[in-house]
Amino acid sequence: MRRRTKIVATMGPAVATEEAVAALRDAGMNVARLNCSHGDWRQKCDFIKWIRQLHDGYSPIAIMADLQGPKFRIADLAGGVVNLATGSDTTMGHGSGAVIPMHDDEIWDAMRKGDRVLFGDGEVEVRLGDQSGGVFDAKVVTGGKVKSRQGITLMGRSFDVGCLTDKDLEDLAQAASFDVDYIALSYVRRGEDMRKLRERVSKLDPSIRLIAKIETKDALHNLDDVIESSDAVMVARGDLGLQMDLEDVPLAQKRIIRKAHLAGKPVITATQMLESMVVNGRPTRAEVSDVANAILDGTDAVMLSGETANGAYPVEAVRTMARVAEKAETLVDPRDYSDDTDERPRRDETTEAVALAAVTIANALRVKAILTMSETGHTPRMVAKYRPKAPIYCASWNTRTQSLNALVWGVDSMMMPPTDNTDEAVAHLIEVFRQRKMVKPGDRVVVTAGIPRGIPGNTNMVLVKTV
Ligand code: PGA
Ligand code: MN
Repeated sequence: MRRRTKIVATMGPAVATEEAVAALRDAGMNVARLNCSHGDWRQKCDFIKWIRQLHDGYSPIAIMADLQGPKFRIADLAGGVVNLATGSDTTMGHGSGAVIPMHDDEIWDAMRKGDRVLFGDGEVEVRLGDQSGGVFDAKVVTGGKVKSRQGITLMGRSFDVGCLTDKDLEDLAQAASFDVDYIALSYVRRGEDMRKLRERVSKLDPSIRLIAKIETKDALHNLDDVIESSDAVMVARGDLGLQMDLEDVPLAQKRIIRKAHLAGKPVITATQMLESMVVNGRPTRAEVSDVANAILDGTDAVMLSGETANGAYPVEAVRTMARVAEKAETLVDPRDYSDDTDERPRRDETTEAVALAAVTIANALRVKAILTMSETGHTPRMVAKYRPKAPIYCASWNTRTQSLNALVWGVDSMMMPPTDNTDEAVAHLIEVFRQRKMVKPGDRVVVTAGIPRGIPGNTNMVLVKTV
């Protein structure tokens, strides 16, 4: 059976040719991530063109633009780099003479004596002492090299800055003009951040879906509201590991995945999943376990960042991830969700109740596939929530929906012609997947349908059919 877990791969210099992108697709990439923290839109435009060219009618690759958000950096260092020795004293601030100069007022205003400041991915840590004249004395807790304009994190602190910077606004306008499928926002703190983003994006293209990157303490604190106001979420372990103690990250991962899953929203587990493959052709045992465990936690998708963007083995990384996922999935059993009160469909959620019925019937009859038709992608997402044993196929007359399915656990998609006649629609639905040889004559399948079209939440029937 086809792999159910989806793979998000980040585009970058290591894969910046048409052939490399095609190789990533062949290795198993489902979603291409354009990281707005690097590169310009001319390069991104090339990736978008190459990815769209790969579309052959079946399960296209979705494109995600990932907005940088408010990232804090130190200023330029006199010599470009300073080497801080563990246990030594240094200074940091925007007064004259600081060893580490700063110019971001928001983070400066939040800094207090006793705070822990992390540099880059947390390789270097200093603890702040007394402040005078705009300069903090600081003790180097973990030493190392600090570079000009390096990113810094004030551990566990929240800032009162807008989530969308001027650069983000420009990037999201570009992203919408190039017709991306998903936009992810960094450093989200509350639902309001996502609602503001939606207000902006809706004016450009309301069909683009929004992903909240969960990477601040505030977002974890306001998790229900953030999930509610987003279409999907990302467990952004890179920054999470800077905002909280590292040992808290695996627990946060499980909690985010569980909550997103219950809300029926796709969740991506991200960062350092196969990090050693940036330089090595084979991953570590720990990395393989990490990918497998994220899948057992219930993630919809797993993500590669530097491994594909600037690693030496981008295609091997995707291939490895696909293999590990396929094996891990053999342990994801169809569960009897009717026993778990948390898992039950919410009241008035007709589509979800019908989806659960479809999964229950499909599991009981061991059918070959569950076939859904969907305007918005809501129905296949609800079917996926109940993790059926059979493959989930979705046909839509909406091209955006076809792409969006690329992020959803277990869903493959095709286009179908629109029709307002139920029998005709069911016949079309079966026919498009028969032509693609995903089902064959004699196969028993479960079909969900909802007529008339275009009314969200309108999936209202389940049929058992033989192709
Ligand atoms: P980033 O987000 O790579 O854009 O920082 C992911 C993370 O923080 O894990
Ligand atoms: Mn991040």
